[in-house]
Amino acid sequence: MADREYDVVVAGAGMVGAAFAALLATKQLANSGQGKKLRIAVLEARPFVMPDLSESFDPRVVALTARSRKLLEDVGAWEQIADRRVCPYQRMEVWEADGTGHIEFDCAEVRQPSLGHIVENALIVEALWQRLDELENVELLCPATVVGLERHSDQEAGVTLSLADGSVITAKLLAAADGAQSKVRELCGLQLRQWEYGHHAIVTTVTTEKNHDFTARQRFLPEGPLAFLPLRTEAGDCHQCSIVWSQQADVAESLMALDDEAFCQALARAGENCLGYIVAVDKRYKIPLKQRHAVDYVVPGVALMGDAAHTIHPLAGQGVNLGFQDVIVLAEEVERAVGRGLSPGDMWALGRYQRRRKPHNLGTMAVMEGFKRIFEEQPLPVRLLRNDGMRAVNRLGPIKNLIVRQAMGLL
Ligand SMILES: Cc1cc2nc3c(=O)[nH]c(=O)nc-3n(C[C@H](O)[C@H](O)[C@H](O)COP(=O)(O)OP(=O)(O)OC[C@H]3O[C@@H](n4cnc5c(N)ncnc54)[C@H](O)[C@@H]3O)c2cc1C
Repeated sequence: MADREYDVVVAGAGMVGAAFAALLATKQLANSGQGKKLRIAVLEARPFVMPDLSESFDPRVVALTARSRKLLEDVGAWEQIADRRVCPYQRMEVWEADGTGHIEFDCAEVRQPSLGHIVENALIVEALWQRLDELENVELLCPATVVGLERHSDQEAGVTLSLADGSVITAKLLAAADGAQSKVRELCGLQLRQWEYGHHAIVTTVTTEKNHDFTARQRFLPEGPLAFLPLRTEAGDCHQCSIVWSQQADVAESLMALDDEAFCQALARAGENCLGYIVAVDKRYKIPLKQRHAVDYVVPGVALMGDAAHTIHPLAGQGVNLGFQDVIVLAEEVERAVGRGLSPGDMWALGRYQRRRKPHNLGTMAVMEGFKRIFEEQPLPVRLLRNDGMRAVNRLGPIKNLIVRQAMGLL
């Protein structure tokens, strides 16, 4: 006997799961009038406690595309995020350590007010949880950890979930957004293709001598890319950046072992002092980077989304942007199925979701892998080609325009 029964259960209320629940619930409220609404629940392993970010920035940030921001607007979360703090970036500079290749992108070239926004992960989650709390047709259950799953042969019956506290829940659709180590993916036996990048990302917040001037900067070093992502305090100060410094595992280890002063010096050198000297650094975190892609995103009654379906190198800042596109497409397909009188977990809808999302996610992952490899290669002819290529792209307005629009999610 189930303790609770729902139409849709979302496992994981990180950025992707919380956005999916909020979008589906918002669409339901807008579309179903007096008709029957889907019963939606979100299960989150973490307690409903937000970190105190009044004195510091969350070390984990994302560069959001215009399309991702629109999703957050549509679910009513963007206003709260923007009221708190976000940093638009109007320019992006990409250059290579080993040569003269250099590309600059400017939002004016694509007639947009910015290329995107740098936002702290915790602020996105906080705003989405707040929305979930406000939406009358969603229940946010936390802490609630999925530990077991039974799929039923009758498609209509969906799945039965066991939680760590011993309770049992049924769902016609289980949307699994439980992250890179997805328990649901494991319980469904969904296969994963994965490989180590051999890289670790060091992430932290730094204070710099110079103002970042709303510019995101990325330098490609032979050992891996280093990104300075601009941040802005509530008071409008622009001397802070979140850094993502991808390094081979052993080098990352030794950088982590440095004291703050030596780390700041090493970082300034690696970034060619693009923002002057590094004045201060917050606590550093080291995150192993792995490429993962689920062979299938769906089985009857279950769909993987976000990092549960794919993880990608952060060099182009696309991870959660891809996850948010999963959100938009799965919500569309669930609505379409329900509109036709089908179960929200019907394989017709899930198949369409997989067909719409998998090629796009795979394509983006392949391009990022290509970039990473091209910038790792050291033979002279590759270096010359790379530098010439960057300079050429920088001069070719239409191609540059296309790249920017693609990266911004405008195409
Ligand atoms: C260094 C770095 C930099 C990045 N920069 C960018 C960027 O600039 N732009 C970008 O788009 N992306 C970026 N990414 C990627 C982005 O951070 C991820 O794609 C994103 O966080 C994935 O969100 P998610 O909701 O899918 O997963 P998660 O954030 O991992 O959320 C999963 C949630 O599920 C919960 N959970 C786990 N197991 C269970 C369970 N059994 N039951 C219930 N709940 C469970 C967890 O507690 C968690 O809240 C970056 C990643 C890294 C590592």
